Amino acid sequence: MKTIDTYDFSGKRAIIRVDFNVPLDAAGNVTDDTRIRAAIPTIRKVLDSGGAVILMTHLGRPKGFDEKYSVRQILPTVEKLLGVKVDFAPDPVGDEAAQKAKNLKAGEVLLLENLRYYAEEEGKPRGLADTVTDEEKTAAKKAVKESQKEFTKRLASFADVYINDAFGTAHRAHASTALIADYFPQDKMFGYVMEDELKAIDLVMQYPERPYAAIIGGSKVSSKITIIENLLDKVDMLIIGGGMTYTFMAAMCGKVGDSICEPEMFETARDIIRKAEFKGVLLLLAQDSVCADRFAEDAETRIYRSNGIPSGWQGLDIGPEAVQTFTDHIMKCRTILWNGPVGVFEMPAFESGTRAVAEAIARATAGGAYTLVGGGDSVAAINKFGLASQVSYVSTGGGALLEYMEGKELPGVAAIRKE
Ligand code: AMP
Repeated sequence: MKTIDTYDFSGKRAIIRVDFNVPLDAAGNVTDDTRIRAAIPTIRKVLDSGGAVILMTHLGRPKGFDEKYSVRQILPTVEKLLGVKVDFAPDPVGDEAAQKAKNLKAGEVLLLENLRYYAEEEGKPRGLADTVTDEEKTAAKKAVKESQKEFTKRLASFADVYINDAFGTAHRAHASTALIADYFPQDKMFGYVMEDELKAIDLVMQYPERPYAAIIGGSKVSSKITIIENLLDKVDMLIIGGGMTYTFMAAMCGKVGDSICEPEMFETARDIIRKAEFKGVLLLLAQDSVCADRFAEDAETRIYRSNGIPSGWQGLDIGPEAVQTFTDHIMKCRTILWNGPVGVFEMPAFESGTRAVAEAIARATAGGAYTLVGGGDSVAAINKFGLASQVSYVSTGGGALLEYMEGKELPGVAAIRKE
C-alpha cells in the first residue's frame, strides 16, 4: 500500500476527500474549525512535495444546489488555516471545475462545491413521492447508481492521485469516499487524519495494555448494543453510564421513576449482564443518580439509588457514590476507551458525572494509560471541560468510529486497502 509519506507528488494533482462538514452560524461563519485544521498537514504535505491539490467534501444534507450548504462559505477559513489562496469551483463536476483542475500548477489548491448537491455522491434517489410503486423505486435506484458511475469517473478525471482523509464518512460507500478509489489502483492512499485514526483505534481494539476499561454512556441501549457486545470480548471492565443505566436497573426489577427507559431492551440488558459474568468482565452501573423533577436546567434535584427512583423523578446524571466508584476503577486501568456522556452534560446541573469521568481519564493518561475518546458527544464533553489535550487521542469520527469498533469493515478504508 502506498503512503502519503513515501509517495512522490511532484508534478501530480491530488484529489483529497476531506471532511469539511463543519458547523456554520446563521451568517455562514465557521463556528468550529477543528475538522479543517485537522486536514491541513495532509494538504501541506502534497503542496510541499511539489504537488497540486483538489479538495472535495460534503457539507450538511442539501437536497440539490442550495446556497445554505455552499462550501464557498468555508473558503476563507481554509485559506486562512492553509496560508495560501484557494480557488473555487461552483459546480463540483462542472466544466469550470474540470478546466480549473487541469490548469492547476504545483502549490495551487482548488476547492470543489458541495458534493452532495448531486444525489450521485451518496448514490440514493432523491425526492421520490410517497406514492411511487416499488418498481418505480427500484428503477430510480438503478438510474442513480448508473449516473453515479459517470459522476465518480468525472471526479477521478481531475487528478492523478486520490487521498482519503475523511474519517467521519469512512463508513459510507459514497462516490468520493470509496468508489473513486477504483480509478486509482496504484495511486491511492490515506491522509494523515485517516492514518492517525486507524492507528489509534487499532491500538485499543487489537493491542490494549491491561486492565482495559470501556466507558459507554449516552441515552439509549438500542444505539450502543452492538458496540457493547463487541467490547465484552475485549475489555476487563465495562462501565455503563447515562440514560442506559435505567434500562439495566428496570430490567433487574429496579424502580426508575420517569427516567429514560427502553422496556423492549430489558432482555438484551439481562443478556449483557449474563455475558459479562460468563466472560469475567466487571460490569459497573451507577449505583446512585442525580435525579430531577423535570428535564430542565433549573429543576429541583435529589440523589436516589438508581434502582429506587420514585415516580415524578428522573435520573439525569450519575450520583456521588457512582462518581467515586467509576473514578477508582478508571484510575486502575492502562487502556481506556470512552464513548458517550454519563449524564446530560449539556446542562451544568447534570454535568458533574461526565466531568468527573473526563478528569479521571485525564489523570489516568498522565499516569501512563492509553486513552481514546470518541463519538460526537464525548468529544463535545471533553472539549467543554478543556481536557482534550490531556487524553491520548480524540477521535473525530462518530458513526465511523462506532462501526469500526463494532468490527465492521469501513468502505472508505477497504477501498484504499484493496489491491
Ligand atoms: P448518544 O447520542 O446516545 O451518545 O447520547 C448522548 C446524549 O445522551 C447526550 O445528549 C446526553 O444529554 C444524553 N444523556 C446522557 N445521560 C442521560 C440521561 N440520564 N437521561 C437522558 N439523556 C441522557
